[in-house]
Amino acid sequence: MRVDADVAVVGAGFAGSLTALALRSIGRSVVLVERGRHPRFVIGESSTPLANLLLEELANRYDLPRIRVFSKWGTWQRARPDVGGGLKRGFTFFFHRPGERFGDDPDHEHQLMVAASPHDDIGDTHWYRPDFDHNLVREAEAAGTIYTDETAIERVAIDRDRSTLEGIRFGQPVRISASFVVDASGPRGFLSRSLSLGEHPLRWLPPTQGLYTHFEHVTRWDTLRPQAGAPYPPDDAAVHHVFPGGWIWMLRFNNSITSAGAALTAATAARLSASDAASVWNRLLATLPSVREQFAHADTVRPWIHSPQLAFRTPRVVGSGWALLPSSAGVIDPLLSTGFPLTLLGIQRLLAILENTSSGSEREAALLEYERITHAELDATEQLVAALYASMDDAPLFKRLTLLYFAAASFSEAARRLSRPDLAPGFLLHAHPMFGPDLHACTMISLARPRGRARDALLEEIDRVIEPFDIAGLLDRTRREWYPVQAGDLIRNAAKLKATEIDVERLLERSGFNPTFRGRSSSRAT
Ligand SMILES: Cc1cc2nc3c(=O)[nH]c(=O)nc-3n(C[C@H](O)[C@H](O)[C@H](O)COP(=O)(O)OP(=O)(O)OC[C@H]3O[C@@H](n4cnc5c(N)ncnc54)[C@H](O)[C@@H]3O)c2cc1C
Repeated sequence: MRVDADVAVVGAGFAGSLTALALRSIGRSVVLVERGRHPRFVIGESSTPLANLLLEELANRYDLPRIRVFSKWGTWQRARPDVGGGLKRGFTFFFHRPGERFGDDPDHEHQLMVAASPHDDIGDTHWYRPDFDHNLVREAEAAGTIYTDETAIERVAIDRDRSTLEGIRFGQPVRISASFVVDASGPRGFLSRSLSLGEHPLRWLPPTQGLYTHFEHVTRWDTLRPQAGAPYPPDDAAVHHVFPGGWIWMLRFNNSITSAGAALTAATAARLSASDAASVWNRLLATLPSVREQFAHADTVRPWIHSPQLAFRTPRVVGSGWALLPSSAGVIDPLLSTGFPLTLLGIQRLLAILENTSSGSEREAALLEYERITHAELDATEQLVAALYASMDDAPLFKRLTLLYFAAASFSEAARRLSRPDLAPGFLLHAHPMFGPDLHACTMISLARPRGRARDALLEEIDRVIEPFDIAGLLDRTRREWYPVQAGDLIRNAAKLKATEIDVERLLERSGFNPTFRGRSSSRAT
């Protein structure tokens, strides 16, 4: 097999297939190389409002209406019920003390629920990746991408003008020649190994491990503990069970499967150490009685995966004639579901470079800028996630730090939807002249694990940082840690987005947020 293409994309996860689809839409010839075979399991399943908006933007920009439907729960379910997925109405956090049953109080001191959508139809989603990625690769093929799966690339000669990849498929040689190589093969992936790019030690996050699988028969939290008046059904969300030294995620799909796993500091993992991941999980659940109840009747439907080193950073992201997508350049942690938006932002930037520059110094300068931004976004993410790990034994501080994320994410989403992306520069607003340095400062103070007055001052400082960007009522303490999506919040804060109330009302109408719900939550749970 010999293929000549404009671009070779290595790795047919969602990112590789989306990149191929977009490149096809602007008339580039593309070969997509996958070492495995779809449908296949891969971790990384929970989207966010920003991730879905970026998916929608990509679909609009590259005329991909069949992809656009996946950017909202309602359109997905109407158009493609055959592709497994889950409804994500928000982010749910429960804070546990090891050895104790979960206890709550009227002020919800041990929980945090932040809605991401006002009703199911425009809700976010969990991607059941065996179906989701399989569907995308089929779309890429239908759009004219040359797809070669079960292909092991053995030799790579990267060159500024034309690179060659040589490998084997079913015992037959494969030779691919392309002007540009996009590495979408994930952490410690294709170019990282073949170009010996090495690993960057993480600077702020302690070493972490992961263990995860898919289950059936996981009991819903709200069956065990009904939450009257919650802003959305707490299980229709990315559920985070947080405890000192780690956290457990739970994501429900509509095919009876629940994805669950734990991210643990190396110290916690060492305390729970056992010969296999299933035993570590059981030991962990033995310390978290209320979570254990959810798994009392659960069965795993696939083998456990243990990742001894969850996080990954590579020092280089680009070179002459090649680039790594952000998901190949770094993984921080599943906390806050940052992987998809970081990857989609990177795809948008890289596509613009491939579209608007040809090989030569202009492209090389653009690639270096892409590398700088990728590092900066991963740094900001790592700093915030590291601060959260440092405060897992301090729920009030953890929650307040999390609100920095929600402030940045909701402000960025609204600014982009108002066609003012300039108001929200960089993932987590890290490049914003006010928010960026303040976010950095708050996370660095948190890493020092402040106590007493220093901790109180930090809590106040976080509120001060959030205020100019709070368009979601995040500082309204009367909400008692339950934050519904309310149109009134956005309308009242229109000026923060340099918009008028009418601009915002139009935006809400366009986005499917029924404006008659103005000022109150439209969640079915309220
Ligand atoms: C435990 C964990 C949980 C996560 N949860 C979330 C989450 O909830 N939300 C979120 O936003 N992000 C999450 N992430 C991050 C998320 O997984 C990634 O952002 C996402 O999977 C990236 O998708 P991708 O298509 O780039 O890569 P992948 O999904 O990793 O796909 C890469 C593909 O490349 C193929 N490949 C690898 N090497 C080669 C090779 N040499 N030749 C050919 N093909 C190759 C693989 O077989 C695979 O099909 C999580 C990460 C981890 C580690």
